[in-house]
Amino acid sequence: MSRRSILIIGGGIAGLSTGCYAQMNGYDTTILEMHDRPGGMCTSWQRKGYTFDYCIHNLAGTRPGSGLSQMWDELGAFKGTEVIDHEVFQRVESCDGKEFNLYCDLDRLERHMKEISPDDSKVIDEFVNAARSFSKIDFFGMGTGGFKLGMISKMGKLMKYSKMTIEEFSSKFKDPFLRRAFRTVQYNMSEIPMTVILVFMSGFDNGDLGWPKGGSFEFSRRIESRFIELGGEIRYRHKVKRIIVDNNRAVGVEMEDGSEQIADIVISAADGYSTIFGMLDGRYLNDRINSYYEAIPKNEPFGIEVNLGVNRDVSSEPHAITLLLETPLKIEDREEDSIYLELFDNDSGLCPKGKGIIKADLVGSYEYWKALRTDLERYRAEKDEIARRVIDILEERFPGLRDQVEVVDVTTPVTCERYTGNLHGYQPWPSKVHTRKVMKEGLSRTLPGLEGFFMVGQWAGATVGVSTVALMGRDTIEKLCRMDKKRFVSQIV
Ligand SMILES: Cc1cc2nc3c(=O)[nH]c(=O)nc-3n(C[C@H](O)[C@H](O)[C@H](O)COP(=O)(O)OP(=O)(O)OC[C@H]3O[C@@H](n4cnc5c(N)ncnc54)[C@H](O)[C@@H]3O)c2cc1C
Repeated sequence: MSRRSILIIGGGIAGLSTGCYAQMNGYDTTILEMHDRPGGMCTSWQRKGYTFDYCIHNLAGTRPGSGLSQMWDELGAFKGTEVIDHEVFQRVESCDGKEFNLYCDLDRLERHMKEISPDDSKVIDEFVNAARSFSKIDFFGMGTGGFKLGMISKMGKLMKYSKMTIEEFSSKFKDPFLRRAFRTVQYNMSEIPMTVILVFMSGFDNGDLGWPKGGSFEFSRRIESRFIELGGEIRYRHKVKRIIVDNNRAVGVEMEDGSEQIADIVISAADGYSTIFGMLDGRYLNDRINSYYEAIPKNEPFGIEVNLGVNRDVSSEPHAITLLLETPLKIEDREEDSIYLELFDNDSGLCPKGKGIIKADLVGSYEYWKALRTDLERYRAEKDEIARRVIDILEERFPGLRDQVEVVDVTTPVTCERYTGNLHGYQPWPSKVHTRKVMKEGLSRTLPGLEGFFMVGQWAGATVGVSTVALMGRDTIEKLCRMDKKRFVSQIV
């Protein structure tokens, strides 16, 4: 029987992973990527000797032998690099010198929190013990068989945390500093479920949530290499305009230059909105899909990133710090009372010796920046202004920093949309507790009434995450093999 062919639209992590597993399973695979490089959102870029990293803060599945690490080994994602395990997830600092370190080791975290507020022992026990219970469940290994059925019984009592926001949990603390600091623990997203921070803390405690040295683009590059070694083909600067459909079956794609490519299966690993409403002209819809896209939030966590390349050694600092602000930071038409920072030293592989990178992640509104960008000068001036305000705040925490800044680079939701095609530069971050059901559940990987077609990636599931989308690629090829009555195979590099 001749090999079946697959066209994959998009060479982000979802597309690359899908491509690797398709090649391992005997399909002829071509990835069409509009950009000139792999990775999509999982990327970094160079500016005057500094590498500014856009994506990975923490990556699931980094402990050798864990359920999910098997997938990364199959994709060659860590080949030739090291994984850094941080001592603290992040430190929250108040203006009056108080510190809350989210130690990755749960015993140490418990002792530290009780030192900050002995009166809160009961709620601290609740938090740390819940995280310990989560540690016994291999959540990250679910898709690769690491998750065992017996684990479900352990989940019962933990389910209540999926209905409780981080904000709601933080209100249990009597100590005012801990109460305020706890709201910010998950990248400042206080309206998302407590389960997210519990899964994170359990992942850290298990050593299964690390940071691949060299950053996001190098990470993507390694998976791209694996795809090519497996015999796959990737074509850059190939933007797909339309999915060709014959008798309600996807049979190929039309490129922007009008050329056509035909295949047995088409898989979109590109932005969901442009796939469904653009490339397929909105012909394969249902109420769920419409409802999902209507509910896309207006403000985007990590929408704005201010990257500073600094002539300063930051190696004695924690890798992530949240500063609780006395004077709020004005961004767009809002005021923020805290700011989340990430710091990289030479050991990260992102900057020269003795220098550092400080990145401030801020909430950003697409509409605000889109409107500004009609006037490029104003858009740039506003980016400069935000950077200036961030530097002013940092000057207090890192005296002398203002004069040490060598490079400034600011991204907005519009930057993300331009480079990756993602609608409004949006990320389906873990949904807020109080939101539409469809936002929590996500969409399906197929479209109603369309054959020969799949969607993978962050738009086809309920949430973001490099590991989530890579796993989705693996799972989709496993399904395809079942449909084609073939045994799914995977190989470790
Ligand atoms: C600021 C930030 C921080 C993050 N931090 C983390 C983290 O710490 N840990 C983690 O696990 N995840 C993190 N994520 C999430 C993670 O980056 C994404 O979930 C994941 O990379 C999405 O991958 P994807 O392949 O689904 O989509 P994308 O990365 O968006 O890839 C889609 C690809 O399709 C291409 N494309 C689009 N349209 C077309 C077209 N018409 N024709 C051809 N090609 C097209 C794009 O150029 C792109 O390469 C972060 C994301 C952001 C933005």
